[in-house]
Amino acid sequence: MGELSIEGVLGHFEGVTRTNAGWRVRCPVHGDSVPSLDIKLTDDGAVLFFCRSRQCVFTDIVRAARLEGLNLGRPEAWIESSSSRSVPSRRKAGPDRTYSTEEIRSGQPWKGQGLSFRELYRYADAHDNLLFAVVRLTDYAGKKTFRQVRVAGPDRWQVGLDGVEPVIYRLPRILQAAATGDTVFIAEG
Ligand SMILES: [Zn+2]
Repeated sequence: MGELSIEGVLGHFEGVTRTNAGWRVRCPVHGDSVPSLDIKLTDDGAVLFFCRSRQCVFTDIVRAARLEGLNLGRPEAWIESSSSRSVPSRRKAGPDRTYSTEEIRSGQPWKGQGLSFRELYRYADAHDNLLFAVVRLTDYAGKKTFRQVRVAGPDRWQVGLDGVEPVIYRLPRILQAAATGDTVFIAEG
């Protein structure tokens, strides 16, 4: 595919304005009216995305903006910008609060609900990008219940799916099996 130019990338977005670090545009994934998607070009030519309002996933942004054909550099790049520089002041309690895997495994987000952590199941998209996890918990009576957490950065999770498209468990493995003609059994329940 052709050479990457930042103008070419920006042409795929609406509401483009200049910022100190780069550009801000309307996020095509969650459809915001006030632009909240930051775009930055690194010295080594990778394009970084960071959706400030919903932390939309890199692959979703690329797809929604129809940038699939372009080599944008490291696909995990948006995560770097989200976890380090961009939002140190926004780490607060409430829906924007993020948790490490360690904190999830200690059941921290559900402590106040009397739920105990049991197991974490990771879900990835067709390209094996981690999207979200389902957490199995038990209540005080030992009854099992489930909660979902979505990826918010490297080793960061946020409670709830909040627009993350659910995928089937072990999707990359299933696609691989389908490609090689294996039989896939889908158990109900
Ligand atoms: Zn977004």
